[in-house]
Amino acid sequence: MDRQKENNSKVGKVYLIGAGPGEPGLITMRGRYLLEKAEVVVYDYLASSKLLRYVPEDAQLVYAGKRGGVKHTHTQEEINQMLVDFAKEGKIVIRLKGGDPFIFGRGGEEVETLSANDVDFEVVPGVTSATAAATYAGIPITHRGYTASVAFLTGHEDPTKPDSNIDWSKIATGIGTIVVYMGIKNLPTIVKNLIDNGRSADTPVAVVRWASTTKQRSVVGTLTTIADIVQQADIKPPALIVIGEVVNLRDKIDWFEKRPLFNKRIVVTRTRDQASELVAGLEEAGASCYECSTINIKPVESYEVLDSELDRINEYHWILFTSLNGVKYFFNQLYSRGMDSRDLKGPDIGVVGKSTADLLLSYGINADLIPPTFTGEGLAESLLDQGVEGRNVLLPRAKSAREILPETLRGAGARVTVAPVYQNVPPQGRKDELRSELESGEVDMVTFTSSSTVRNFITMVDAKDQEELLDLMKDVKIAAIGPITAKTVTDSGLQVDIQPEEYTIPAMVTSIIDFFTSDS
Ligand code: SAH
Repeated sequence: MDRQKENNSKVGKVYLIGAGPGEPGLITMRGRYLLEKAEVVVYDYLASSKLLRYVPEDAQLVYAGKRGGVKHTHTQEEINQMLVDFAKEGKIVIRLKGGDPFIFGRGGEEVETLSANDVDFEVVPGVTSATAAATYAGIPITHRGYTASVAFLTGHEDPTKPDSNIDWSKIATGIGTIVVYMGIKNLPTIVKNLIDNGRSADTPVAVVRWASTTKQRSVVGTLTTIADIVQQADIKPPALIVIGEVVNLRDKIDWFEKRPLFNKRIVVTRTRDQASELVAGLEEAGASCYECSTINIKPVESYEVLDSELDRINEYHWILFTSLNGVKYFFNQLYSRGMDSRDLKGPDIGVVGKSTADLLLSYGINADLIPPTFTGEGLAESLLDQGVEGRNVLLPRAKSAREILPETLRGAGARVTVAPVYQNVPPQGRKDELRSELESGEVDMVTFTSSSTVRNFITMVDAKDQEELLDLMKDVKIAAIGPITAKTVTDSGLQVDIQPEEYTIPAMVTSIIDFFTSDS
Protein backbone atom coordinates (compact mmCIF):
# COMPACT_ATOMS: atom_id res chain seq x y z
CA MET A 1 0.00 0.00 0.00
CA ASP A 2 2.64 2.42 1.19
CA ARG A 3 4.86 1.37 -1.64
CA GLN A 4 2.04 2.01 -4.08
CA LYS A 5 1.46 5.51 -2.74
CA GLU A 6 5.15 6.19 -2.84
CA ASN A 7 5.35 5.03 -6.45
CA ASN A 8 2.58 7.31 -7.60
CA SER A 9 4.34 10.38 -6.33
CA LYS A 10 7.76 9.15 -7.41
CA VAL A 11 9.36 9.87 -10.75
CA GLY A 12 10.67 6.73 -12.42
CA LYS A 13 14.06 6.35 -13.97
CA VAL A 14 15.68 3.82 -16.27
CA TYR A 15 19.26 2.70 -15.69
CA LEU A 16 20.86 1.02 -18.68
CA ILE A 17 23.56 -1.12 -17.14
CA GLY A 18 26.32 -3.10 -18.78
CA ALA A 19 26.41 -6.51 -17.10
CA GLY A 20 29.85 -7.32 -18.47
CA PRO A 21 30.76 -10.35 -20.57
CA GLY A 22 29.46 -13.17 -18.36
CA GLU A 23 31.60 -13.51 -15.26
CA PRO A 24 29.38 -11.74 -12.69
CA GLY A 25 32.38 -10.18 -10.94
CA LEU A 26 32.99 -8.04 -14.02
CA ILE A 27 29.99 -5.74 -13.50
CA THR A 28 30.96 -2.23 -12.35
CA MET A 29 30.47 -1.13 -8.74
CA ARG A 30 27.96 1.46 -9.94
CA GLY A 31 26.04 -1.27 -11.77
CA ARG A 32 25.88 -3.49 -8.74
CA TYR A 33 24.86 -0.61 -6.47
CA LEU A 34 21.96 0.17 -8.78
CA LEU A 35 20.87 -3.49 -9.04
CA GLU A 36 20.34 -3.41 -5.28
CA LYS A 37 17.89 -0.52 -5.74
CA ALA A 38 15.89 -2.14 -8.57
CA GLU A 39 12.10 -2.32 -8.61
CA VAL A 40 11.98 -3.80 -12.10
CA VAL A 41 14.80 -5.57 -13.95
CA VAL A 42 14.55 -6.16 -17.69
CA TYR A 43 17.45 -8.46 -18.56
CA ASP A 44 18.91 -10.13 -21.64
CA TYR A 45 20.05 -13.59 -22.56
CA LEU A 46 23.69 -12.53 -22.40
CA ALA A 47 23.48 -10.81 -18.99
CA SER A 48 24.62 -13.30 -16.36
CA SER A 49 21.62 -14.53 -14.40
CA LYS A 50 23.95 -14.78 -11.40
CA LEU A 51 23.73 -10.99 -11.15
CA LEU A 52 20.04 -11.28 -10.32
CA ARG A 53 21.01 -12.35 -6.83
CA TYR A 54 21.77 -8.69 -6.04
CA VAL A 55 18.26 -7.60 -6.93
CA PRO A 56 15.80 -7.10 -4.03
CA GLU A 57 13.53 -10.11 -3.58
CA ASP A 58 10.35 -8.21 -4.31
CA ALA A 59 11.63 -6.69 -7.57
CA GLN A 60 9.86 -7.68 -10.76
CA LEU A 61 12.06 -9.61 -13.20
CA VAL A 62 11.37 -9.50 -16.92
CA TYR A 63 13.34 -11.69 -19.30
CA ALA A 64 13.69 -9.84 -22.57
CA GLY A 65 15.30 -12.77 -24.40
CA LYS A 66 16.95 -11.97 -27.73
CA ARG A 67 19.22 -14.74 -28.71
CA GLY A 68 20.67 -15.08 -32.18
CA GLY A 69 18.71 -17.57 -34.27
CA VAL A 70 16.10 -18.27 -31.61
CA LYS A 71 12.67 -16.69 -31.60
CA HIS A 72 12.89 -13.39 -29.71
CA THR A 73 10.90 -13.25 -26.51
CA HIS A 74 10.16 -9.56 -27.03
CA THR A 75 10.74 -7.38 -30.07
CA GLN A 76 13.02 -4.38 -29.65
CA GLU A 77 9.98 -2.07 -29.96
CA GLU A 78 8.22 -3.95 -27.16
CA ILE A 79 11.28 -3.65 -24.94
CA ASN A 80 11.58 0.09 -25.63
CA GLN A 81 7.91 0.59 -24.79
CA MET A 82 8.13 -1.57 -21.68
CA LEU A 83 10.96 0.60 -20.31
CA VAL A 84 8.92 3.76 -20.91
CA ASP A 85 5.81 2.26 -19.29
CA PHE A 86 7.57 1.02 -16.15
CA ALA A 87 9.32 4.36 -15.69
CA LYS A 88 6.03 6.22 -16.11
CA GLU A 89 4.63 4.06 -13.29
CA GLY A 90 7.31 5.67 -11.12
CA LYS A 91 9.55 2.61 -10.94
CA ILE A 92 13.31 2.32 -10.70
CA VAL A 93 13.92 0.26 -13.82
CA ILE A 94 17.17 -1.56 -14.47
CA ARG A 95 17.80 -2.50 -18.06
CA LEU A 96 20.57 -5.07 -17.74
CA LYS A 97 22.43 -5.80 -20.96
CA GLY A 98 25.34 -8.11 -21.79
CA GLY A 99 28.76 -6.48 -22.14
CA ASP A 100 28.48 -2.73 -22.72
CA PRO A 101 25.02 -1.34 -23.51
CA PHE A 102 26.30 0.89 -26.31
CA ILE A 103 28.42 -1.69 -28.10
CA PHE A 104 26.25 -3.64 -30.53
CA GLY A 105 23.62 -3.79 -27.81
CA ARG A 106 20.93 -1.52 -29.24
CA GLY A 107 21.28 0.55 -26.10
CA GLY A 108 21.34 3.66 -28.26
CA GLU A 109 17.88 2.88 -29.59
CA GLU A 110 16.54 2.24 -26.12
CA VAL A 111 17.69 5.57 -24.71
CA GLU A 112 16.51 7.40 -27.83
CA THR A 113 13.02 6.14 -27.07
CA LEU A 114 13.37 7.11 -23.41
CA SER A 115 14.55 10.56 -24.38
CA ALA A 116 11.70 11.00 -26.85
CA ASN A 117 9.25 10.08 -24.08
CA ASP A 118 10.84 12.40 -21.52
CA VAL A 119 11.92 9.54 -19.31
CA ASP A 120 14.93 10.17 -17.09
CA PHE A 121 17.80 7.72 -17.63
CA GLU A 122 21.43 6.92 -16.86
CA VAL A 123 23.80 4.65 -18.76
CA VAL A 124 26.42 2.60 -16.90
CA PRO A 125 29.12 1.22 -19.21
CA GLY A 126 30.21 -2.39 -18.97
CA VAL A 127 33.19 -4.53 -19.89
CA THR A 128 32.48 -5.38 -23.48
CA SER A 129 32.89 -8.98 -24.56
CA ALA A 130 35.58 -8.13 -27.13
CA THR A 131 38.11 -7.04 -24.55
CA ALA A 132 37.00 -9.76 -22.15
CA ALA A 133 37.23 -12.52 -24.76
CA ALA A 134 40.70 -11.45 -25.80
CA THR A 135 41.90 -11.06 -22.22
CA TYR A 136 40.40 -14.34 -21.03
CA ALA A 137 41.89 -16.14 -24.03
CA GLY A 138 45.32 -14.76 -23.12
CA ILE A 139 45.47 -12.16 -25.89
CA PRO A 140 46.36 -8.50 -25.23
CA ILE A 141 44.08 -6.68 -27.64
CA THR A 142 46.81 -4.14 -28.35
CA HIS A 143 50.53 -4.52 -27.80
CA ARG A 144 53.30 -2.05 -28.60
CA GLY A 145 55.26 -4.63 -30.53
CA TYR A 146 52.32 -5.79 -32.69
CA THR A 147 49.54 -3.30 -33.18
CA ALA A 148 48.54 0.25 -32.39
CA SER A 149 44.94 0.02 -33.54
CA VAL A 150 41.89 -2.09 -32.91
CA ALA A 151 38.45 -2.19 -34.51
CA PHE A 152 35.19 -3.70 -33.31
CA LEU A 153 32.95 -4.90 -36.13
CA THR A 154 29.62 -6.61 -36.35
CA GLY A 155 29.63 -9.78 -38.40
CA HIS A 156 25.88 -9.90 -38.33
CA GLU A 157 25.26 -8.02 -41.52
CA ASP A 158 25.52 -9.96 -44.69
CA PRO A 159 29.07 -9.20 -45.88
CA THR A 160 28.11 -9.76 -49.52
CA LYS A 161 25.45 -7.09 -49.54
CA PRO A 162 26.56 -4.26 -51.77
CA ASP A 163 25.60 -1.47 -49.38
CA SER A 164 27.52 -2.97 -46.42
CA ASN A 165 28.40 -0.44 -43.72
CA ILE A 166 31.79 -2.04 -43.37
CA ASP A 167 34.45 -1.01 -45.83
CA TRP A 168 36.50 -4.21 -45.88
CA SER A 169 39.11 -2.74 -48.20
CA LYS A 170 40.03 -0.19 -45.53
CA ILE A 171 39.66 -2.47 -42.51
CA ALA A 172 41.59 -5.44 -43.92
CA THR A 173 44.97 -3.75 -43.94
CA GLY A 174 44.27 -0.45 -42.19
CA ILE A 175 43.70 -1.88 -38.71
CA GLY A 176 45.93 -4.04 -36.49
CA THR A 177 43.57 -6.08 -34.36
CA ILE A 178 40.06 -6.74 -35.64
CA VAL A 179 37.39 -8.10 -33.32
CA VAL A 180 34.15 -9.33 -34.83
CA TYR A 181 30.95 -9.65 -32.80
CA MET A 182 28.11 -11.91 -33.96
CA GLY A 183 30.27 -13.29 -36.75
CA ILE A 184 30.13 -17.06 -36.39
CA LYS A 185 27.51 -17.66 -39.05
CA ASN A 186 29.26 -15.44 -41.58
CA LEU A 187 32.80 -16.46 -40.64
CA PRO A 188 33.70 -17.97 -44.06
CA THR A 189 32.67 -14.76 -45.85
CA ILE A 190 34.37 -12.54 -43.28
CA VAL A 191 37.75 -14.26 -43.67
CA LYS A 192 37.38 -14.30 -47.44
CA ASN A 193 36.69 -10.55 -47.46
CA LEU A 194 39.79 -9.88 -45.39
CA ILE A 195 42.03 -12.04 -47.57
CA ASP A 196 40.56 -10.69 -50.82
CA ASN A 197 41.26 -7.18 -49.55
CA GLY A 198 44.92 -7.86 -48.87
CA ARG A 199 45.20 -9.20 -45.32
CA SER A 200 47.75 -12.00 -45.12
CA ALA A 201 46.10 -15.41 -45.21
CA ASP A 202 48.43 -16.50 -42.40
CA THR A 203 47.11 -13.88 -39.96
CA PRO A 204 46.36 -15.67 -36.70
CA VAL A 205 42.72 -15.82 -35.54
CA ALA A 206 41.15 -16.87 -32.23
CA VAL A 207 37.49 -17.64 -31.72
CA VAL A 208 36.26 -17.51 -28.13
CA ARG A 209 32.86 -18.73 -27.00
CA TRP A 210 31.20 -17.79 -23.70
CA ALA A 211 34.27 -15.78 -22.76
CA SER A 212 35.05 -15.22 -19.08
CA THR A 213 32.60 -17.90 -17.92
CA THR A 214 33.33 -21.45 -16.81
CA LYS A 215 31.91 -22.54 -20.18
CA GLN A 216 34.59 -20.66 -22.12
CA ARG A 217 35.97 -22.47 -25.16
CA SER A 218 38.46 -21.17 -27.63
CA VAL A 219 40.13 -22.31 -30.82
CA VAL A 220 42.96 -20.78 -32.79
CA GLY A 221 43.87 -20.88 -36.47
CA THR A 222 44.65 -18.54 -39.35
CA LEU A 223 42.42 -16.66 -41.77
CA THR A 224 42.75 -19.69 -44.06
CA THR A 225 42.01 -22.41 -41.53
CA ILE A 226 39.73 -20.89 -38.88
CA ALA A 227 36.37 -21.44 -40.60
CA ASP A 228 36.97 -25.20 -40.82
CA ILE A 229 38.34 -25.36 -37.29
CA VAL A 230 35.26 -23.61 -35.89
CA GLN A 231 32.97 -25.90 -37.83
CA GLN A 232 34.78 -29.03 -36.68
CA ALA A 233 34.89 -27.88 -33.07
CA ASP A 234 31.17 -27.04 -33.38
CA ILE A 235 31.64 -23.57 -31.89
CA LYS A 236 28.30 -21.80 -31.81
CA PRO A 237 27.30 -18.26 -30.77
CA PRO A 238 27.87 -16.37 -28.56
CA ALA A 239 31.45 -16.17 -29.73
CA LEU A 240 33.91 -13.50 -30.77
CA ILE A 241 36.49 -13.56 -33.49
CA VAL A 242 39.83 -11.94 -32.69
CA ILE A 243 42.06 -11.36 -35.71
CA GLY A 244 45.62 -10.08 -35.71
CA GLU A 245 49.22 -10.81 -34.80
CA VAL A 246 48.51 -10.32 -31.07
CA VAL A 247 46.76 -13.71 -31.12
CA ASN A 248 50.22 -15.32 -31.21
CA LEU A 249 50.91 -14.02 -27.70
CA ARG A 250 48.33 -16.42 -26.33
CA ASP A 251 50.89 -19.22 -26.15
CA LYS A 252 52.76 -17.24 -23.52
CA ILE A 253 50.00 -15.56 -21.58
CA ASP A 254 47.02 -17.85 -21.55
CA TRP A 255 46.10 -17.62 -17.87
CA PHE A 256 42.39 -18.38 -17.62
CA GLU A 257 42.20 -21.70 -19.45
CA LYS A 258 45.35 -22.93 -17.70
CA ARG A 259 43.72 -22.91 -14.26
CA PRO A 260 43.81 -26.41 -12.74
CA LEU A 261 40.08 -27.22 -12.90
CA PHE A 262 39.31 -25.45 -16.18
CA ASN A 263 36.80 -27.43 -18.22
CA LYS A 264 35.95 -29.72 -15.31
CA ARG A 265 32.24 -30.10 -14.66
CA ILE A 266 31.59 -30.76 -10.99
CA VAL A 267 28.22 -31.51 -9.43
CA VAL A 268 28.22 -30.02 -5.95
CA THR A 269 25.54 -31.53 -3.77
CA ARG A 270 24.61 -29.24 -0.99
CA THR A 271 21.88 -28.07 1.27
CA ARG A 272 20.10 -25.03 0.03
CA ASP A 273 21.01 -22.98 3.08
CA GLN A 274 24.68 -23.86 3.14
CA ALA A 275 27.23 -21.24 2.21
CA SER A 276 28.68 -21.86 -1.25
CA GLU A 277 32.25 -21.98 -0.01
CA LEU A 278 32.91 -25.19 -1.93
CA VAL A 279 31.48 -23.85 -5.18
CA ALA A 280 33.48 -20.62 -4.78
CA GLY A 281 36.72 -22.54 -4.17
CA LEU A 282 36.20 -24.86 -7.13
CA GLU A 283 35.19 -22.06 -9.49
CA GLU A 284 38.21 -20.03 -8.44
CA ALA A 285 40.31 -22.94 -9.71
CA GLY A 286 38.39 -22.89 -12.98
CA ALA A 287 35.74 -25.57 -12.51
CA SER A 288 32.24 -25.29 -13.85
CA CYS A 289 29.92 -26.26 -11.01
CA TYR A 290 26.39 -27.54 -11.14
CA GLU A 291 24.90 -26.82 -7.75
CA CYS A 292 22.48 -29.52 -6.83
CA SER A 293 20.46 -28.96 -3.71
CA THR A 294 19.78 -32.43 -2.38
CA ILE A 295 18.46 -31.29 0.95
CA ASN A 296 16.32 -28.48 2.19
CA ILE A 297 16.78 -27.52 5.77
CA LYS A 298 13.65 -26.60 7.67
CA PRO A 299 12.89 -25.70 11.26
CA VAL A 300 11.28 -28.50 13.29
CA GLU A 301 7.54 -28.33 13.98
CA SER A 302 8.07 -28.00 17.70
CA TYR A 303 10.85 -26.60 19.87
CA GLU A 304 9.30 -28.02 23.03
CA VAL A 305 12.40 -30.00 24.07
CA LEU A 306 14.85 -27.18 23.51
CA ASP A 307 12.58 -24.66 25.20
CA SER A 308 12.25 -26.65 28.39
CA GLU A 309 15.99 -27.38 28.50
CA LEU A 310 16.83 -23.71 27.95
CA ASP A 311 14.78 -22.96 31.08
CA ARG A 312 17.32 -24.96 33.05
CA ILE A 313 20.37 -24.43 30.89
CA ASN A 314 22.61 -23.74 33.88
CA GLU A 315 22.20 -27.34 35.05
CA TYR A 316 24.05 -28.47 31.91
CA HIS A 317 27.77 -29.24 31.86
CA TRP A 318 28.03 -29.49 28.10
CA ILE A 319 26.28 -28.27 24.95
CA LEU A 320 27.48 -30.10 21.83
CA PHE A 321 27.07 -28.92 18.26
CA THR A 322 27.59 -31.47 15.50
CA SER A 323 26.58 -29.32 12.51
CA LEU A 324 26.43 -25.75 11.23
CA ASN A 325 22.67 -25.91 11.07
CA GLY A 326 22.55 -27.13 14.67
CA VAL A 327 24.28 -23.90 15.71
CA LYS A 328 22.16 -21.72 13.48
CA TYR A 329 18.75 -23.08 14.51
CA PHE A 330 19.75 -23.32 18.18
CA PHE A 331 20.56 -19.60 18.25
CA ASN A 332 17.43 -18.69 16.26
CA GLN A 333 15.35 -20.30 18.99
CA LEU A 334 17.49 -18.86 21.80
CA TYR A 335 17.03 -15.35 20.41
CA SER A 336 13.31 -15.84 19.80
CA ARG A 337 12.98 -16.39 23.57
CA GLY A 338 14.70 -13.09 24.29
CA MET A 339 17.88 -14.88 25.43
CA ASP A 340 21.38 -14.54 23.97
CA SER A 341 24.90 -15.95 24.30
CA ARG A 342 25.32 -14.49 27.81
CA ASP A 343 22.80 -17.07 28.97
CA LEU A 344 25.19 -19.84 27.90
CA LYS A 345 28.03 -18.95 30.23
CA GLY A 346 27.41 -21.97 32.47
CA PRO A 347 27.97 -25.06 30.30
CA ASP A 348 31.11 -25.81 28.31
CA ILE A 349 30.57 -25.96 24.58
CA GLY A 350 31.96 -28.65 22.28
CA VAL A 351 31.79 -28.71 18.48
CA VAL A 352 32.42 -31.37 15.88
CA GLY A 353 34.92 -29.45 13.78
CA LYS A 354 36.56 -26.23 12.75
CA SER A 355 33.76 -24.81 10.56
CA THR A 356 31.26 -25.30 13.36
CA ALA A 357 33.70 -23.60 15.76
CA ASP A 358 34.06 -20.67 13.35
CA LEU A 359 30.31 -20.28 13.04
CA LEU A 360 29.93 -20.48 16.81
CA LEU A 361 32.46 -17.69 17.20
CA SER A 362 30.35 -15.48 14.96
CA TYR A 363 27.65 -15.83 17.66
CA GLY A 364 30.20 -14.61 20.21
CA ILE A 365 31.26 -17.95 21.68
CA ASN A 366 34.65 -19.61 21.58
CA ALA A 367 34.30 -23.40 21.56
CA ASP A 368 35.79 -25.12 24.61
CA LEU A 369 36.39 -28.36 22.77
CA ILE A 370 37.22 -29.19 19.15
CA PRO A 371 38.22 -32.83 18.68
CA PRO A 372 41.33 -33.68 16.62
CA THR A 373 39.11 -35.84 14.36
CA PHE A 374 36.11 -33.90 13.05
CA THR A 375 33.41 -36.58 13.43
CA GLY A 376 30.75 -37.47 15.98
CA GLU A 377 33.00 -40.34 17.12
CA GLY A 378 35.96 -37.96 17.43
CA LEU A 379 33.91 -35.65 19.60
CA ALA A 380 32.70 -38.56 21.74
CA GLU A 381 36.25 -39.76 22.22
CA SER A 382 37.54 -36.35 23.29
CA LEU A 383 34.71 -36.06 25.80
CA LEU A 384 35.31 -39.54 27.17
CA ASP A 385 38.94 -38.55 27.75
CA GLN A 386 37.67 -35.78 30.01
CA GLY A 387 35.21 -38.10 31.80
CA VAL A 388 31.46 -37.64 31.36
CA GLU A 389 30.10 -39.73 34.22
CA GLY A 390 27.07 -37.94 35.71
CA ARG A 391 27.46 -34.97 33.36
CA ASN A 392 24.41 -33.34 31.75
CA VAL A 393 24.88 -33.00 28.01
CA LEU A 394 22.58 -31.09 25.63
CA LEU A 395 22.73 -32.02 21.97
CA PRO A 396 20.87 -29.60 19.65
CA ARG A 397 20.86 -31.24 16.21
CA ALA A 398 18.89 -32.58 13.24
CA LYS A 399 15.62 -34.37 13.87
CA SER A 400 17.00 -37.57 12.42
CA ALA A 401 20.71 -38.12 12.90
CA ARG A 402 23.11 -40.88 13.85
CA GLU A 403 22.80 -42.12 17.41
CA ILE A 404 26.47 -42.91 17.90
CA LEU A 405 27.35 -39.75 19.85
CA PRO A 406 24.48 -39.81 22.38
CA GLU A 407 24.78 -43.59 22.78
CA THR A 408 28.52 -43.50 23.43
CA LEU A 409 28.14 -40.73 25.98
CA ARG A 410 25.23 -42.46 27.71
CA GLY A 411 27.30 -45.64 27.77
CA ALA A 412 29.94 -43.74 29.72
CA GLY A 413 27.40 -42.50 32.27
CA ALA A 414 26.38 -39.11 30.87
CA ARG A 415 22.78 -37.85 30.90
CA VAL A 416 22.21 -36.81 27.30
CA THR A 417 19.23 -34.80 26.04
CA VAL A 418 18.78 -34.67 22.29
CA ALA A 419 16.96 -31.49 21.21
CA PRO A 420 15.88 -31.54 17.55
CA VAL A 421 16.31 -28.01 16.15
CA TYR A 422 16.08 -28.56 12.38
CA GLN A 423 15.17 -31.21 9.86
CA ASN A 424 16.41 -32.34 6.44
CA VAL A 425 13.78 -32.68 3.76
CA PRO A 426 14.49 -33.78 0.19
CA PRO A 427 13.76 -30.90 -2.21
CA GLN A 428 11.08 -31.07 -4.85
CA GLY A 429 11.86 -30.92 -8.55
CA ARG A 430 15.23 -30.51 -10.31
CA LYS A 431 15.45 -34.29 -10.67
CA ASP A 432 15.32 -34.13 -14.46
CA GLU A 433 18.04 -31.52 -14.60
CA LEU A 434 20.39 -33.68 -12.54
CA ARG A 435 19.57 -36.75 -14.64
CA SER A 436 20.34 -34.99 -17.89
CA GLU A 437 23.61 -33.62 -16.46
CA LEU A 438 24.70 -37.19 -15.73
CA GLU A 439 23.37 -38.59 -19.00
CA SER A 440 25.25 -35.93 -20.98
CA GLY A 441 28.48 -37.68 -19.95
CA GLU A 442 30.08 -34.32 -19.24
CA VAL A 443 30.16 -34.56 -15.46
CA ASP A 444 33.68 -35.19 -14.16
CA MET A 445 32.98 -35.32 -10.44
CA VAL A 446 30.32 -35.25 -7.74
CA THR A 447 31.12 -33.92 -4.27
CA PHE A 448 29.43 -34.99 -1.05
CA THR A 449 29.72 -33.11 2.21
CA SER A 450 27.50 -35.28 4.40
CA SER A 451 25.84 -38.68 4.42
CA SER A 452 22.45 -37.16 3.77
CA THR A 453 23.73 -35.50 0.59
CA VAL A 454 24.77 -38.97 -0.62
CA ARG A 455 21.44 -40.59 0.20
CA ASN A 456 19.39 -37.77 -1.26
CA PHE A 457 21.55 -37.58 -4.38
CA ILE A 458 20.88 -41.25 -5.05
CA THR A 459 17.16 -40.71 -4.47
CA MET A 460 17.23 -37.78 -6.88
CA VAL A 461 19.12 -39.69 -9.58
CA ASP A 462 16.26 -42.18 -9.38
CA ALA A 463 18.05 -45.00 -11.19
CA LYS A 464 15.78 -47.94 -11.89
CA ASP A 465 18.32 -50.35 -10.43
CA GLN A 466 21.89 -50.56 -9.15
CA GLU A 467 23.19 -51.33 -12.63
CA GLU A 468 21.75 -48.12 -14.04
CA LEU A 469 23.19 -46.10 -11.14
CA LEU A 470 26.65 -47.56 -11.76
CA ASP A 471 26.31 -46.92 -15.46
CA LEU A 472 25.37 -43.25 -14.94
CA MET A 473 28.28 -42.80 -12.55
CA LYS A 474 30.87 -44.86 -14.44
CA ASP A 475 33.02 -41.92 -15.59
CA VAL A 476 32.19 -39.70 -12.64
CA LYS A 477 34.72 -39.34 -9.83
CA ILE A 478 33.45 -38.98 -6.29
CA ALA A 479 34.81 -36.74 -3.54
CA ALA A 480 33.63 -37.24 0.05
CA ILE A 481 34.48 -34.83 2.82
CA GLY A 482 35.19 -37.37 5.55
CA PRO A 483 35.09 -41.06 6.50
CA ILE A 484 31.41 -41.19 7.48
CA THR A 485 30.30 -39.61 4.22
CA ALA A 486 32.73 -41.91 2.37
CA LYS A 487 31.25 -44.96 4.05
CA THR A 488 27.75 -43.94 2.99
CA VAL A 489 29.09 -43.69 -0.58
CA THR A 490 30.68 -47.15 -0.53
CA ASP A 491 27.64 -48.65 1.23
CA SER A 492 25.60 -47.57 -1.76
CA GLY A 493 27.92 -49.46 -4.10
CA LEU A 494 29.86 -46.47 -5.44
CA GLN A 495 33.54 -45.77 -5.10
CA VAL A 496 35.23 -42.83 -3.40
CA ASP A 497 38.12 -41.31 -5.36
CA ILE A 498 38.96 -38.35 -3.14
CA GLN A 499 38.82 -37.87 0.58
CA PRO A 500 40.76 -35.00 2.14
CA GLU A 501 42.84 -35.66 5.24
CA GLU A 502 41.25 -32.79 7.10
CA TYR A 503 37.45 -32.76 6.94
CA THR A 504 37.04 -29.17 5.84
CA ILE A 505 35.88 -27.46 2.66
CA PRO A 506 39.26 -25.78 1.90
CA ALA A 507 41.02 -29.14 2.32
CA MET A 508 38.45 -30.72 0.02
CA VAL A 509 39.10 -28.08 -2.66
CA THR A 510 42.86 -28.68 -2.40
CA SER A 511 42.44 -32.46 -2.69
CA ILE A 512 40.23 -32.07 -5.76
CA ILE A 513 42.79 -29.80 -7.43
CA ASP A 514 45.59 -32.26 -6.56
CA PHE A 515 43.56 -35.12 -7.94
CA PHE A 516 42.94 -33.50 -11.32
CA THR A 517 46.41 -32.02 -11.72
CA SER A 518 48.23 -35.24 -10.92
CA ASP A 519 45.71 -37.18 -13.04
CA SER A 520 46.51 -35.39 -16.28
N1 SAH B 1 26.77 -5.42 -25.86
C1 SAH B 1 27.51 -6.66 -25.97
C2 SAH B 1 27.47 -7.27 -27.35
C3 SAH B 1 26.11 -7.71 -27.78
S1 SAH B 1 26.10 -8.40 -29.39
C4 SAH B 1 28.95 -6.42 -25.53
O1 SAH B 1 29.36 -5.30 -25.31
O2 SAH B 1 29.69 -7.40 -25.37
C5 SAH B 1 26.14 -10.11 -29.05
C6 SAH B 1 27.47 -10.70 -29.43
O3 SAH B 1 28.43 -10.37 -28.45
C7 SAH B 1 27.50 -12.21 -29.49
O4 SAH B 1 27.00 -12.69 -30.71
C8 SAH B 1 28.99 -12.47 -29.36
O5 SAH B 1 29.65 -12.22 -30.56
C9 SAH B 1 29.39 -11.39 -28.39
N2 SAH B 1 29.44 -11.88 -27.00
C10 SAH B 1 28.74 -11.41 -25.96
N3 SAH B 1 29.10 -12.05 -24.83
C11 SAH B 1 30.05 -12.93 -25.18
C12 SAH B 1 30.85 -13.87 -24.47
N4 SAH B 1 30.73 -14.04 -23.16
N5 SAH B 1 31.75 -14.59 -25.15
C13 SAH B 1 31.92 -14.43 -26.48
N6 SAH B 1 31.19 -13.58 -27.19
C14 SAH B 1 30.29 -12.82 -26.56
